[in-house]
Amino acid sequence: MIGVESPEDSSRPDVSVLQLLESARPVARLEPLPEPLPLPEPVFPQHPELLGRDNFVEHDFRQQRKWSAPHIYRSMRGWMFPWMKSRLLPGEFQPIIAYLFTEWKCNLDCHYCWAFDNRVKGMTEEVARRSIDWLHDTPCRVLALMGGEPLLRPQFAHKVVYYAAKKGFWPYVSTNARLLRPDVIDRLADAGMATFNFAVDVVDEKPGLPKALTPIRPFFEYLVKKQFSYGYSVFFNINITRRNLEDVRQLTEIAHEYGIATDYHINESPLMDQPDFKHADNNDTFIHKEDWPAVDELVHWLVEKKRQGYKMPNSAARLLEMTEFMRGKVQEWNCRAGQNTLIIRTDGTLAPCFPMYNVSHDWGTIEKPRFDSQELRTMKRDCQPHCFSTLNHIVAYCYNDARVIRWLLQQAVRGFQGVTGSME
Ligand code: SF4
Ligand code: SF4
Repeated sequence: MIGVESPEDSSRPDVSVLQLLESARPVARLEPLPEPLPLPEPVFPQHPELLGRDNFVEHDFRQQRKWSAPHIYRSMRGWMFPWMKSRLLPGEFQPIIAYLFTEWKCNLDCHYCWAFDNRVKGMTEEVARRSIDWLHDTPCRVLALMGGEPLLRPQFAHKVVYYAAKKGFWPYVSTNARLLRPDVIDRLADAGMATFNFAVDVVDEKPGLPKALTPIRPFFEYLVKKQFSYGYSVFFNINITRRNLEDVRQLTEIAHEYGIATDYHINESPLMDQPDFKHADNNDTFIHKEDWPAVDELVHWLVEKKRQGYKMPNSAARLLEMTEFMRGKVQEWNCRAGQNTLIIRTDGTLAPCFPMYNVSHDWGTIEKPRFDSQELRTMKRDCQPHCFSTLNHIVAYCYNDARVIRWLLQQAVRGFQGVTGSME
């Protein structure tokens, strides 16, 4: 669900190291178990009193959300304790966030996106279960369901979330929300979903930009209202392209009206050649040099909104960096992919990050990771200046003990009511 693409004017990386990696050694395969190991059938409903349209905890969206002690503890168990463990345990591979690509198919076709292939079969229950069991033996407690579109098989997603939550994970889903019907919301929330990353680029559908709010507005209304009953959170994930600059403003205002956060990406072109990318030529969403002034204006508008108190996990500095990135000027930034974050592909093989999904290098499989610190360092010298991975940037930003300790002290003073906010 991550938006991609980019300016013809900003250079793509010298991918020589990446290409070398591709030919370095054959890719491992995950061996199936002698007997299939399915996911357990979820108990549903676990909270019958919360089901359906009539069970809303009323909340004034203009008021600051109050988090209960169990919700604060859940966030700390998902993020803070794993971070601490990852700092204390020996060895460079100490994952705290894992992206589980349960699907590589999608029901939409955003013109900037190379991240789906409708010929690829979805993850099996066995791979999902073994992934969660393996991660459970590491510090990692944040499990993000990704695609393609991870809700193409809602019952499968329900089983994964239920199993992960029972094992103490903080489940998260990134979705275009086309299939996020109220009954699906109830099932996922009942199973323990912690956060819905609601990916939307425009208010009304535009050619090449199908992730629109209007067709799924009823789902959105239901999702935001039910968050106070179940205790999950919701945020908009918006990709800034040359075609949706006004929509970004409108979606930001809608999110603010409903008291939810907004997370932004700047359109990036694929890091590696993507032979299956249908819209590589004459792409109508790429940001061109003549778009820079309008994008600059939008980014400064967003920074001003953040200063006014709009909820945005991106720091103001990070937002401003988008204008540098679009001009090809971002440099090294301590990317932690393959060390503290990783992706698990549909077949159970591993890669350090989403931009490397299609790289055919052997980084191992679940249960047998093969991330080599020196190799990663060499690779990142090539790719970091050309990558605007928001999540990995946030993790890099948090890999500074003094910054985290200062943030924790601030949170303690506020009674931990900002534990889901940004670390600035
Ligand atoms: S909705 Fe589908 S096509 Fe659009 S960005 Fe997400 S994965 Fe790609
Ligand atoms: S900088 Fe990090 S997240 Fe970006 S492509 Fe390189 S390894 Fe992946």
